[in-house]
Amino acid sequence: MDYFSEGISQLIEQLQVLPGIGAKSAQRLAFHIISMPEEKVDRLSDTLKSVRKNIRYCSECFTLTDSEKCPICSSAKRNHRMIMVVETSRDLAAYEKTGKYEGVYHVLNGAISPMLGIGPGDIRLKELMRRLEGDVEEVIIATNSTLEGETTAMYISRLVKPTGIRVTRIANGVPVGGDLENIDEVTLLRALEGRTVL
Ligand code: ZN
Repeated sequence: MDYFSEGISQLIEQLQVLPGIGAKSAQRLAFHIISMPEEKVDRLSDTLKSVRKNIRYCSECFTLTDSEKCPICSSAKRNHRMIMVVETSRDLAAYEKTGKYEGVYHVLNGAISPMLGIGPGDIRLKELMRRLEGDVEEVIIATNSTLEGETTAMYISRLVKPTGIRVTRIANGVPVGGDLENIDEVTLLRALEGRTVL
């Protein structure tokens, strides 16, 4: 890409580290950024830096947040006796978009995958079990319908059942191999409402 000046080439290269951004998109973004007013570019880069610096895991549910406890765990309006277990903060966001779920979450930050060498100790399972020592009525397992997601769901249900807490799994409205965040809200709601006891 030596037909661009050094600075522009570097910007294009940096943008390509983002997922889904190939050479063409990176070029388009780079030229857009260059044409933006300076203060807008400043705001964008300041936001990037401060988000990266201040972001951490919620001490209760392990979603990404910028305070000790995330807004959902801090909310008195939520039902803290109902915990939905998801793989990522993006999955949490997908369920929040439905606006119909009133419980809280537990974000595993991954899923069990023997193939990738990710075991139960590599995701936030211990932390989930610790939460279940409190006053919890139901654990809704909403991991993805992938091999890893199903393996994780089975593992969790086996862990939780002996505690006597109700364990449910979201319905099959979520297509097999489906990534939760790409599924529309109606399908997600249907999956949540049609959940079955494990
Ligand atoms: Zn939280």
